[in-house]
Amino acid sequence: MAKRWVSTNAGAHLAGRRKVNTAPEVLLRQAVHAAGGRFRLHRQIEKGCTPDFVLPSRHVAVFVDGCFWHGCPEHGRTTPWVGPNAELWADKMRRNAERDRRSTQLAQDHGWLVVRVWECQVRRDPENVAHHVMYPQEASRRSGFHSLSDPLDGVPPAK
Ligand SMILES: [Zn+2]
Repeated sequence: MAKRWVSTNAGAHLAGRRKVNTAPEVLLRQAVHAAGGRFRLHRQIEKGCTPDFVLPSRHVAVFVDGCFWHGCPEHGRTTPWVGPNAELWADKMRRNAERDRRSTQLAQDHGWLVVRVWECQVRRDPENVAHHVMYPQEASRRSGFHSLSDPLDGVPPAK
């Protein structure tokens, strides 16, 4: 049972922190701005809950989730981890999912409408995602967005 990361060629575990101002995040902000939405960046709602941006007048909090780290159904890992770090990887992804769930909950507790979108959705159609951000109630009736349902179905709850 590996307790420490074993160095591998990938070394991707070093890149696990949530980054700010990622390309899809910027792309979405531009589309929201073009659609007339006004937002604030990286406003901390509470410790452990800093959306990528918020639209204060609409009370919408937006998280752009990276497909790999947050386990997009299309681009996230679907097979068990293998190799010397398998257990650590699985653990890390579980913690990411728990953190996402917690930050969503925190924002909702503070009265924000939470919109979580995958980076691939933004890359595919930033205008459509921007519309969803601006009018989440309306867009949630369409398929393809995971923000208003539980994106983390199947993930065991935090102990
Ligand atoms: Zn994806």
